[in-house]
Amino acid sequence: MSEPHLQSTIVCPYCGAATRETMPVDSCLYFYDCKSCNAVLKPRVGDCCVFCSYGDVRCPAKREEEARRC
Ligand SMILES: [Zn+2]
Repeated sequence: MSEPHLQSTIVCPYCGAATRETMPVDSCLYFYDCKSCNAVLKPRVGDCCVFCSYGDVRCPAKREEEARRC
């Protein structure tokens, strides 16, 4: 098995389309184009990337940060 946590399903808030995406490990994805309705998704306030806002798995950078906090 190879890094299942680097896959996240982004659900578009506009059209509800769910798209499986691979997260970049070394950077945050700030903009995401919905493949279904072409809306440009941006992170919600307080979130660092679209995976944190709309994905079912938080981005690797965020999880690392949370792990360090405790
Ligand atoms: Zn959409």
